[in-house]
Amino acid sequence: AKYVYIFGNKKADGDGSMKALLGGKGANLAEMTRIGLPVPPGFTITTEVCTYYYANKRTYPKELQAQVEAGVANMEKILGKKFGDLNKPLLVAVRSGARDSMPGMMDTILNLGLNDQTVIALEKASGNPRFAWDCYRRFIQMYGDVVMGVQKRPGEDHEPFEIVIDQLKEELFPGQHHVEDTKIDAEGLKELVNRFKALVKDRTGKAFPNNPWDQLKGAVGAVFGSWMNDRAMVYRRKYGIPSEWGTAVNVQAMVFGNTGQNSGSGVAFTRDPASGEKVFYGEFLMNAQGEDVVAGVRTPEPVALLKNEQPKAFAELEKVRKTLESHFKDMQDFEFTIEDGQLFMLQTRNGKRTGLAAVRIAVEMVKEKLITWETAITRVPAEQLDQVLAPVFDRAAVKAAKVIAKGLPAGPGAASGRIYFNADRAVLAAEAKEKVLLVRVETSPEDLRGMIAAEGILTARGGVSSHAALVARQMGKVCVCGASALHVDYANKILIVDGQEFKEGDYLSIDGTLGEVYAGELKTAASEIVQVLVEKSLDAKDSATFRNFKQLMDWCAKATKLLVRTNADSPDQTANAIAFGASGIGLCRTEHMFFEGDRIDAMREMILAENTEDRKKALAKLLPYQREDFIGIFKELKGLPATIRFLDPPLHEFLPHEGSLIRDLSEKIGVTPEKIAKRVAELHEFNPMLGHRGCRLGIAYPEISEMQARAVFEAAVEVQKKGIKVKPEIMIPLVGFPKELQLQIDVVNRVAQEVAKEKKTKLNYLVGTMIEIPRAALVADDIAKDAQFFSFGTNDLTQTTLGMSRDDSGSFLPKYGELEIIKKNPFASIDQTGVGRLMQMAVELGRKTRPDIKLGICGEHGGDPDSVKFCHRIGLNYVSCSPFRVPVARLAAAQAAL
Ligand code: PEP
Ligand code: MG
Repeated sequence: AKYVYIFGNKKADGDGSMKALLGGKGANLAEMTRIGLPVPPGFTITTEVCTYYYANKRTYPKELQAQVEAGVANMEKILGKKFGDLNKPLLVAVRSGARDSMPGMMDTILNLGLNDQTVIALEKASGNPRFAWDCYRRFIQMYGDVVMGVQKRPGEDHEPFEIVIDQLKEELFPGQHHVEDTKIDAEGLKELVNRFKALVKDRTGKAFPNNPWDQLKGAVGAVFGSWMNDRAMVYRRKYGIPSEWGTAVNVQAMVFGNTGQNSGSGVAFTRDPASGEKVFYGEFLMNAQGEDVVAGVRTPEPVALLKNEQPKAFAELEKVRKTLESHFKDMQDFEFTIEDGQLFMLQTRNGKRTGLAAVRIAVEMVKEKLITWETAITRVPAEQLDQVLAPVFDRAAVKAAKVIAKGLPAGPGAASGRIYFNADRAVLAAEAKEKVLLVRVETSPEDLRGMIAAEGILTARGGVSSHAALVARQMGKVCVCGASALHVDYANKILIVDGQEFKEGDYLSIDGTLGEVYAGELKTAASEIVQVLVEKSLDAKDSATFRNFKQLMDWCAKATKLLVRTNADSPDQTANAIAFGASGIGLCRTEHMFFEGDRIDAMREMILAENTEDRKKALAKLLPYQREDFIGIFKELKGLPATIRFLDPPLHEFLPHEGSLIRDLSEKIGVTPEKIAKRVAELHEFNPMLGHRGCRLGIAYPEISEMQARAVFEAAVEVQKKGIKVKPEIMIPLVGFPKELQLQIDVVNRVAQEVAKEKKTKLNYLVGTMIEIPRAALVADDIAKDAQFFSFGTNDLTQTTLGMSRDDSGSFLPKYGELEIIKKNPFASIDQTGVGRLMQMAVELGRKTRPDIKLGICGEHGGDPDSVKFCHRIGLNYVSCSPFRVPVARLAAAQAAL
């Protein structure tokens, strides 16, 4: 089998379409080589070898060695160098490269092939001893760390290699603080190499390998091994990358950005990944290797300044920028190195971007005729659309606030929170429901958990393409980085800035759009889109952000088959959702209306009633409230349908349980505290979610359903009189037996006839049911004889199918995720193989009985992009989700249709 794919000299075995086999980096190196970009030659070891490696006790297929040797020979031929040669040694970089990029999560080794002999050759060839020995010591450091495991031990504060460097600096420059590494001369670096080797021997008991082939073998093994390291696993879990995919390994001839002032390394984007603006964006460091730029140790310069320092290389880079976009037809994020004035491309990939940038780039690329509008829809990850709706700081609050530091705007949005200086403490604080800002000198992949937990990330060092910035943007976290005025004192857990001291737990606010840091907690305000659509303020109506968003949503409307409704219980929520493009209400939870104000008292009176007559009296008090609410909602809907669900939760949820509250209620409704306490005790259930709730309430007390039906129909009559169409769809919850539904439908129809007769009018309505317990799905053909529609209540359907409480599963689900028993939280994203199969069955059975049955979903899953796509595939008519999720669901629905 073919395990090694070579590239170089405009020819490549692979191409850009082979990401699964070659990883993203390997596939695009091949593609760039094919289109004639200056890529140093090399080869890619496929992801299949990674799979083999883990399936076979960390060993390799036997054909591999010969293929790797052929790959090296090809590089040697192209470059006229030889691996391990004493005159012209070939040096290589060994890098990971998974199908989806996992920035900074896996290992990289540079300058491989150096040893005590080849370093002399490099010294001669470059005429630069300092450079040669710096490469060598970096190689030992990286290889020693990554391959041989010379790392910080528990309790140690610093990396062992860094300690050795600091010691040497102290000897060379006694008493001086903060001496830059570049001050150490060639002789010093030679000494460092010796001490590094001694350190390796001391820590591992093994000598540092001198033979380049041994080095290569070790490095390849380490890269495959890093696929299973802790931070890579955390990252995969977060982004749902299956561990079966594996990583590829890229071995590529080294080019050097650190040979002197004519050389440098950089990372650039073809457009601004934060705003989406079409400007050349990125940064570079002269006399540096690529790792220096990404690691955020030195703060790099904006790429535009390269024009002054390296005009020829910059002009070429500008050309590359255009070629990349016209070829890949998407915004690219690429790495380059300039070696003695000559440009080399080391990587390109579709650039990660913020939601804001994703929308803008997609819309503008259609205008530029690079892509079609259909492609534009696929270019914005539905989940990211959320960011466009994210809050900003209240303008007045910002004016009044003092900027205490400025950094780079690396992840847009506004965040306020208590500061934490370490990922673990940030996680703990977030678990205790605090709003957290993670503040670090610079972030490393180890901080990932802390970044996930934080609202925002603030760093003192690093540029816009540093690890902190990249990961924050992708997660949609607010991020300001490189705020160099910050002095973070980890040991004392304080932050000193501008003469002010902040302790861990104090509030700061950061604006990731402007790069500003403020003391204290600032009020946040809605995004421009929310301002226009929800707050109806027209100031932002002409903003590009709003126009791009609207354009995208208009395209979605053209593409979609699946409609998006909303879960709303009030006129306000209804109006918001419609502004976001909802095509009706998919779930109005009528019980929410009873929790408001003094309605709860009438509700409690009803529950406490000891006979039907008393209950009817209390219900009569509730009727006008409920009718008013429906009138408000129907008016907002202007003829769009509304699925109204009858009372669902166990009654005890409405009752007070504490003594003082019981006494309050007693005074209000004139029932003795003893009686109330007795009734509360009677209503107690061991398992209320499986108890007296849902249609079981309406069956035991038909007068409740009667009142609710009357409220719906009287409201409908009222609104119809104003010339507004009304389409109520009455929904009976928690049905499992056809007879349950029949009994409730009888009540609804009877009341409808009564109201129609009283008001001398006609009523148009549907009656249907939720499919939210497995029995309903199993006998859906029978249920469809009476139900005019089904709506999947996937919250309950998940809890009953999995036998997992929707309220209590938080305690063990994380473990299930870690062990990959489940891929995603089944309460957030439909368990497609289990719950999904029941849904599919219900769809088929329902349509068999009633071909035109209307089908929807109203569980929380209705706003989850993957679940929305699943609903499209099984042929539902609509999904329903919370108002602010409507744009996300619309985008997902449109994507599913393409
Ligand atoms: C459901 O169970 O999915 C549902 C929508 O109803 P509720 O969340 O109110 O139980
Ligand atoms: Mg339910």
